[in-house]
Amino acid sequence: MHRSGAAMAWNVFKFCTALRGLGSIMILLVLGVVGVTYYAVVLTNYGPALYDGGLDSVTAVAVLILFHCLLVMLLWSYFSVVLTDAGSVPPNWRPALDEERGEADPLNASEFSGAQSDPLNPRIRYCRKCNQLKPPRCHHCSVCGRCILKMDHHCVWVVNCVGALNYKYFLLFLLYTFLETSLVTLSLLPHFISFFSEGEIPGTPGTLATTFLAFVLNLAFALSVLGFLIMHISLVSANTTTIEVL
Ligand SMILES: [Zn+2]
Ligand SMILES: [Zn+2]
Repeated sequence: MHRSGAAMAWNVFKFCTALRGLGSIMILLVLGVVGVTYYAVVLTNYGPALYDGGLDSVTAVAVLILFHCLLVMLLWSYFSVVLTDAGSVPPNWRPALDEERGEADPLNASEFSGAQSDPLNPRIRYCRKCNQLKPPRCHHCSVCGRCILKMDHHCVWVVNCVGALNYKYFLLFLLYTFLETSLVTLSLLPHFISFFSEGEIPGTPGTLATTFLAFVLNLAFALSVLGFLIMHISLVSANTTTIEVL
């Protein structure tokens, strides 16, 4: 076990250095989009609108409260997916069938070949990379370099596998991202339209560019996350995963 473990760790290290590097960049990218959006919504447009008086102030208060609540939930669910282990196979996991038989022999290849061809339990599979049996619905992730329980997919946005233990956070992350980006798109829409109207637009070139960028980014995220959200809700209702569908 120790010998193969060391060899596997080295292979994974070589194979995944590039993807790991991409991983930290993805987290910075997400935080960058959040920063640009915060600057456009809070500091440039709706923060100053608080002092306009009348209906504008009421709208600004409502948008700012909703924006901050959704942002807290979005960041919480995001870092929950990033930091929660997707679910690894418990050490020395054996199928229930073996426990009933009372077999206590250490795992080896001959036992594997016997188990795989076992007509009583055809679903038992063996992972040659991890050198262990695979529980049902478990898949090997080549990026993480280990088997993941009920693996859905390896998500580059969260630099983690999405599996049995963090799938709930992943769904919440999709939901809050959709709500937040929709709110931002709708609240920046009047400012975006005013770019194409005639007459003087208030603001410096910098703030105008940030508002434009934030609108386009949030619209793009809202549309693509909506697609993922619908897909994953239908996957959950059918009790299946992205891998199993593919
Ligand atoms: Zn594996
Ligand atoms: Zn993975």
